[in-house]
Amino acid sequence: MTFLPEGKLYIDGQLRDAANGAKYEDISPWTGEVVAYAADASAEDMEEAIAAARRAFDHSDWPTNSDKRLALVHKLAELMKANRQRLVDIAIHETGAAMGAVNMANVDGPLNHFDKLFEIYGTIEWEKAMLDKEVWGSVHRRLLVKEPAGVVGAIIPWNVPLYITVGKVIPALLLGCTVILKPAPDTPLMSTIIGELAAEAGFPAGVLNVVSGKEPALLGEILVTDPRVDVISFTGSTGVGRRIMEIGAPTLKRLFLELGGKSAAIIFEDAPNFAEAVGQSIVCYHAGQGCATITRLLVPESRYDEAVTVLEHAYDAYAQLWGKAEDPTNFMGPLISQRQRDRVMGYIEAGKSEGARLIAGGQIATDKGGGFFIEPTCFVDVTNDMTIAREEIFGPVLVVIPFKDDEDAIRIANDSEYGLSGSVVSGDEARAVRVAKRIRTGTVGVNGGMSMDVDLPFGGYKQSGLGKEWGLEGFEEYLETKVIATRA
Ligand code: NAD
Repeated sequence: MTFLPEGKLYIDGQLRDAANGAKYEDISPWTGEVVAYAADASAEDMEEAIAAARRAFDHSDWPTNSDKRLALVHKLAELMKANRQRLVDIAIHETGAAMGAVNMANVDGPLNHFDKLFEIYGTIEWEKAMLDKEVWGSVHRRLLVKEPAGVVGAIIPWNVPLYITVGKVIPALLLGCTVILKPAPDTPLMSTIIGELAAEAGFPAGVLNVVSGKEPALLGEILVTDPRVDVISFTGSTGVGRRIMEIGAPTLKRLFLELGGKSAAIIFEDAPNFAEAVGQSIVCYHAGQGCATITRLLVPESRYDEAVTVLEHAYDAYAQLWGKAEDPTNFMGPLISQRQRDRVMGYIEAGKSEGARLIAGGQIATDKGGGFFIEPTCFVDVTNDMTIAREEIFGPVLVVIPFKDDEDAIRIANDSEYGLSGSVVSGDEARAVRVAKRIRTGTVGVNGGMSMDVDLPFGGYKQSGLGKEWGLEGFEEYLETKVIATRA
């Protein structure tokens, strides 16, 4: 049985246990068994981390010494790459990623993003002289200055923790902010290892702090309500995003929120590769636990029966292919936890009772081991008002909805409180782009176009979030803009 090294807190430059010695069990999604222990921080530990981050921002040269920052963040990046195998072990045994998903967003994707992040950092325009202006008879020289926004509380979900951590923490540190990283209770080790490597890299005390804990809301709410924290950078569910906005209001906290999604793919009747496009829409990658996963498939009424047949075959073929942890061609393992599996099964029951037709899966899989497995599941004859079409399931469940024409497809795609991602496939690229422009989401792929990358801003419209991660825009979330005007 695999056992991973224990997760320690990293606070004010010290790797340590919780002050009261508390630890909690880290459970493997593959087996349901304990795979490690992690420090269970108390409110006092979080207080100490916030005080340390504040001190490091206000009283050290971190915000102003960019050579030092660059050297240390480079060192951290090197150490993370050198520890790839440990990150892979954590991604598999703690996050439940299958090897095919490890190679992508779970480990290698974020590690490969470092070089581009350093490059983007190099393009930041720290000072910009505006045109001189004459006001009331004198000339005013005006300068725009960018400055680090301060102490950042980074709150992370469990689905792709390393990817999200790199997207938040590396830009914030490079820009001179200090950071308190709070992992999700289910995936503490993917953050505590970063504390360990920052200590090894020789980070100054308080610049980066990592505070794990068992209780989902306790530590995060302290971060959100503490006036010493300037920015909350949150990725997680829309419900918790709302709560953060509410409790962040008294300190007018600057909020960056990456939230849930219910993204739609529109496949038009003229798609030259119609069957291939439909077949590739099955939701299997990382067991559907991706915020930008396309989970509503919109197909034309004129080719609806054909699409259903294609999906029946695609799911049939996939039934034997998933669930093996070490197979590099496999993208799908278990769900993160018993709680998440119960939640997804609740949605499957809702789909059945509201009249959708199940053509694949729908059961807990019992032949993959003792973990939290659900079969790849597909509902057809779905209408967009059903619960399974409206709410984010965050599991391996695809819903298929027929549409009449372009306007109907756009209407259904946009009839959602979410607005994160989407895709359009058509033999007529101009038509597809026209439709993509009318979809109210932050990213849209056209004819297989990859709309998410390290140099592209990612973030939602509507209730999928506020602000952008990645790209230059992802850096700007951690900057303030100051105007200095001098009368010449
Ligand atoms: P979650 O909202 O339950 O938890 C996210 C984080 O917030 C965890 O660290 C949790 O401990 C913390 N938290 C919980 N309650 C809190 C509170 N009251 N105050 C402060 N922090 C609190 O989300 P999850 O279940 O961990 O992750 C799945 C969700 O994340 C999905 O909705 C998914 O769409 C979303 N997500 C979004 C993106 C994106 O980029 N838009 C990416 C990945 C995941």
